[in-house]
Amino acid sequence: FPNINGKTRVCGLFGFPVEHSFSPAMHNAAYAKLGLNWVYVPYGVHPDRLAQAMEGIRSLELTGVNVTVPHKQNILPLLDEIDPAARIIGAVNTIVNEGGKLVGYNTDGPGFIRSLETEAGFSPRGKSILLVGAGGAARAVAIALAFAGADSLYITNRTPERAEGLARDVSRACQVKARVLPWGKQLPRTTVSEVNLVVQTTSIGMSPGVDQAPEFPFTALRPGQLVCDLIYNPAKTLFLQRAAAQGAKTFNGLGMLLYQGVLAFELWTGLPAPVEIMRETLLRQVSGREE
Ligand code: NDP
Repeated sequence: FPNINGKTRVCGLFGFPVEHSFSPAMHNAAYAKLGLNWVYVPYGVHPDRLAQAMEGIRSLELTGVNVTVPHKQNILPLLDEIDPAARIIGAVNTIVNEGGKLVGYNTDGPGFIRSLETEAGFSPRGKSILLVGAGGAARAVAIALAFAGADSLYITNRTPERAEGLARDVSRACQVKARVLPWGKQLPRTTVSEVNLVVQTTSIGMSPGVDQAPEFPFTALRPGQLVCDLIYNPAKTLFLQRAAAQGAKTFNGLGMLLYQGVLAFELWTGLPAPVEIMRETLLRQVSGREE
C-alpha cells in the first residue's frame, strides 16, 4: 500500500478471531483494481469491547466494516439504523458509516440470491426450495429467498424447534409458504424430487470433516435438479458429490461469499464492484487454504 496518506478511506472487519478471513484480500484487490485510495483492515474485536469498537468507527471515521462471528447478532442494539431484511434475519454483516450514523445491513442472503441468479441462472420467483439446516446461514438465505419472491420453502433441521422458528419468522415477514419437514431418513422423497432447488446449509462436510454429509435421500433427486451447498471449503462437499452422482447440477457457497463482499463493496463505494478480480482473489485464497 505505497499510497496510504491523509485521504485514504478505511474499511474493515470486526470479528474474533479474524485471522482466517478472506475478506481483506478480496476487498484490497478490488480497491487496487479500481485505483481507489482505500484500504480494508481486519480488526480482532473482543466481545467485551464491541461497543468501544463501534464508537471507534465514528471517531476514526471508518467508511464501513463487515461484521463476522461472534458479533453478527450482538451488534444489532449498537446500530443507529437497521435495514428491514437484516432486522428480520436478526444479524448484520455490513455496517455503513453515514457521517456518524451507523447503518446495518445483511448482504449474506442477497449475496446468495445474486450468486443463484448470475452463476446458476436461477431466479427464485415462484419457485419451491428445500433448505437442509436452520442455523444462521439458513436464516439469511431463507429470508432473502422469501423477499425474492419464492413460492414455498421447506425447512428440515436436526433440531426441529429451530426450523419451526425460522418457518414462523419467514412466513410472518413475507408472502411465502414455509413448512417444516422431518430430518434425515423421514424426509419425504416426493418433496425432494419436486422442489426446484435444494440448499444444504449445515456445517456438516466442512473441512476438516470432509468425509461427512447430512443424512438425505439422495436417490430421490432428479437428473438436472439444482443443488447447492453453502460450504466452499472443500469446493465439492460429500453432499454435492452424492447429489452429482444422481445427475443433479451442483454449485457451492463460493458465489455467496463473493457476492456478499461485492454488495458490501457497492454499499461503501457506490461503485460497481470489479467482480472478476474479487473472484480470482477468493479462489486463490481458498485453494491456498485447502493445500
Ligand atoms: P450455525 O451454527 O448457525 O448452524 C449450524 C447448522 O448446522 C444448524 O442447522 C445445525 O443444526 C446444523 N448442524 C451442525 N452439526 C450438525 C450435525 N452433526 N448433525 C445435524 N445438523 C448439524 O452455522 P451457520 O449457519 O453460520 O453456518 C453453517 C454453514 O454455512 C457453515 O458450514 C458455514 O461455513 C456456511 N456458511 C457459508 C457462507 C458463504 O458465504 N458461503 C456464509 C455463512 C455460512 P442444529 O440446529 O440442530 O444444531
